[in-house]
Amino acid sequence: MSLTVCKFGGSSLADGNNITRVTEIVKSDPARRFVVVSAPGKRYSGDIKVTDMLYECYKESKEKGNCSAAFEKIRRRFYSIVEELGMDTFFDIGKILDETEREIESRKSADFTASRGEYLNARVVAAKMGLPFIDAKDIIFFDKNGQFDEARSYPLIAEKLEKCEGAVIPGFYGTDAEGNIKTFSRGGSDISGSIVARAVNADLYENWTDVSGFLACDPRIVEHPQKIEIISFKELRELSYMGANVLHADSIFPVRKGDIPIKIKNTFRPEDAGTLILPSKKYVKHGNIVTGIAGKKDFTVIYLEKSMMNSEIGFARKVLSVLERRGICFEHMPSGIDTLSLVIESKYFADGSLDSLLKELSEAVQPDYIHALENIALVATVGHGMASNIGTSARLFKALSDAGINIRMIDQGSSEINIIVGIDNDDYEKCVRAIYREFFS
Ligand code: ASP
Repeated sequence: MSLTVCKFGGSSLADGNNITRVTEIVKSDPARRFVVVSAPGKRYSGDIKVTDMLYECYKESKEKGNCSAAFEKIRRRFYSIVEELGMDTFFDIGKILDETEREIESRKSADFTASRGEYLNARVVAAKMGLPFIDAKDIIFFDKNGQFDEARSYPLIAEKLEKCEGAVIPGFYGTDAEGNIKTFSRGGSDISGSIVARAVNADLYENWTDVSGFLACDPRIVEHPQKIEIISFKELRELSYMGANVLHADSIFPVRKGDIPIKIKNTFRPEDAGTLILPSKKYVKHGNIVTGIAGKKDFTVIYLEKSMMNSEIGFARKVLSVLERRGICFEHMPSGIDTLSLVIESKYFADGSLDSLLKELSEAVQPDYIHALENIALVATVGHGMASNIGTSARLFKALSDAGINIRMIDQGSSEINIIVGIDNDDYEKCVRAIYREFFS
């Protein structure tokens, strides 16, 4: 029988009614055996996520030595969830909450405190579903560099879960090399779900959220953009790196290595098809040349020009060593025969260090010309169809020129599934709309 690992996000589990809905979803398909949960999220706009309330608890306990005022809100939230689920007569959430509050105060750790939203929610969901609770601290480990420890975690997860018909596992955290609780970055339950799916070699990783999958572009820019039904891991990586953020960007790596597809589903509209994310091997071409468009504002492009750069051994290494010494990541490095550009997030220069970087680069490689373009936005047009369809870039550039947009930089990724254009921040929305019109209308 096929095996599905499903992860439910915070809005899917924000209150008792939603947890009942999630229970029905899980029970409606026997393949859905392992359930990874987030902490309760927002119930309405303006509401506060339990994880954010927990960071408040940490702050309060650091300042005052206890967190009773902030923890009271968590207490009320979980009491009301348990009551809504009709579990208050047999499930002693009060005792679990008391223990949790004591531990938060004694451990004095931000990660431990933040992780308790997932811990408490998984205890509740497990009781509601009648499934065992398996603590992430016993199966997900980080190494001494703070990286997820595959070698230690995968066999343990597989061994533990093999013995269960089903289980509920809290997302977002695990245990570090010193035995302390450590969390992934925010939104990290997506990563936990992916890890569990990989460890048990699932047929499918379902990620349940409050939208019906990925859209071809940001709906705040284009009204009702098309839904993406099928997308490859590679395309998704490009789009989510550029800001399409339904899933935590790091969550694709574990399942991708295991060739396990991901399905994004909407807890509030389970009948919607959602988006299926497929490994390249299993990817089937669909009609559109372009799968999606995404972008980000606020980059700086440093442009270097030097005659005979192409025959100067070590030119790029010297440039990159300067960045390395300053702890700067670059995003792209388009190059020509005598030119090289560095695309860097402008946040690195918020301290006014751009001029001194230009000076240091000039000293390092003595360019004929060096110049920085600021306030640049990048827009990526992504799709497997692009490499094999003659004229795609011509269409893209014509659409931008018709819209009166000045292209400041072009970078076609070596995988040929994306073309990135650099434009002025002010042209960003106009650019996304022009590309969408060209390829989707
Ligand atoms: N609860 C955590 C957060 O709010 C992790 C997650 O939901 O994935 O970031």
